[in-house]
Amino acid sequence: MDRKVIIATKNKGKAKEFEALFSKFNLEVLTLLDIENAPDVEETGATFEENAILKAEAISQFTGSIVVADDSGLVVDALDGRPGIYSARYAGEEKSDEANISKLLSELNDVQQKDRTARFYCALAVAIPGAETLVVAGTCEGLILNERRGTNGFGYDPVFYVPSLQQTMAELSSEQKNSISHRANALRNLQPLIGRIFSKR
Ligand code: IMP
Repeated sequence: MDRKVIIATKNKGKAKEFEALFSKFNLEVLTLLDIENAPDVEETGATFEENAILKAEAISQFTGSIVVADDSGLVVDALDGRPGIYSARYAGEEKSDEANISKLLSELNDVQQKDRTARFYCALAVAIPGAETLVVAGTCEGLILNERRGTNGFGYDPVFYVPSLQQTMAELSSEQKNSISHRANALRNLQPLIGRIFSKR
């Protein structure tokens, strides 16, 4: 019985979030840091879901194991959904969080606070050998401020204000962020599916 799941990430923080979810299922949880010569998968999809599926299926084909992959980013309503799947490289291929925030603030310069609605979005794909790939998503709603606040987190956290907590993501503790984030919500939606996948094995 294969009770192993590979998380398609080299990010130790993300790996920990997944390990916590899978702990109750008595699974061996590996990441790309444990897999030699894993292919570098190009994110050529047009949606978060497509990119997560591309990553999960490529690593699953390479390893023959069940693989979970995520793709996430920021969706801003006043910018027709940008930066979206291009969130990491919004201001250029060097992938600078600082430059990305500066570009976002300048694009929203003329947009009033009430119209600066946005959400973080996370798609998770589970590729299962011999079965159809499963996909779930999770979001976290907020507003884009016009200045940075807080130093925790990464990416767009300093300008992403969470109305229910009256703080930016970068002002929250990691425990607070991990309980309300798009990734946490996607993981919550994945939980019943994981139970079903492994009860059949
Ligand atoms: P990834 O798919 O997790 O690598 O995220 C892609 C990009 O989306 C990151 O480089 C960030 O710019 C943005 N992003 C994703 N999740 C978060 C978050 O929790 N906080 C801030 N930015 C995020």
